[in-house]
Amino acid sequence: MSGINSFLKKYRETMEHHHGWQVELTCPECGNASLPVYSGWKPQSSMNFGDKPTIFADLTCAACGRNIEDAAGKKLVELFADARIPPENRKVFFLFALGALAAPVVLLIPAIVTGIALLYLLPVIALTFILPSILLLNYRIASIRNRCECGKPEFLFMGLLGRAYCYRCSCCGRLLKLRD
Ligand SMILES: [Zn+2]
Ligand SMILES: [Zn+2]
Repeated sequence: MSGINSFLKKYRETMEHHHGWQVELTCPECGNASLPVYSGWKPQSSMNFGDKPTIFADLTCAACGRNIEDAAGKKLVELFADARIPPENRKVFFLFALGALAAPVVLLIPAIVTGIALLYLLPVIALTFILPSILLLNYRIASIRNRCECGKPEFLFMGLLGRAYCYRCSCCGRLLKLRD
């Protein structure tokens, strides 16, 4: 049991991301350009497509107290305009698509070709691996942000661009865009 528990603990720790905002913003109200006041984050239910930003952080102008999440959204688009999904992320995604989605289809072939009904169990068995594969996929993608060139990875989640997760390393300022 302790093995499973320590695995689950590690899994949770890896999956967990920390919200935050450490980039200067210009207030549209008073023109003050400085680090905004970050007062935690709130869940957002809206699904955004394309490259529309979703900001979870509760951000206000340090000078006048105005909510400046709009400015944060614009900043997110600007910052991550050139950020690409890392090749490792794309590779894991591709392998997942191949393994978990194509395998059940391919495994239908023996049953169709031979007509042996029992062989229809093959794709069914393969399908039961989809959920564990999704967990593994997300784990592999999340562990990308446990590493950074600076040696002190501390990625803060800044928001979503479409369905891509945008992170910034607090230590070196490196930007990271991930998809899961
Ligand atoms: Zn202001
Ligand atoms: Zn770093």
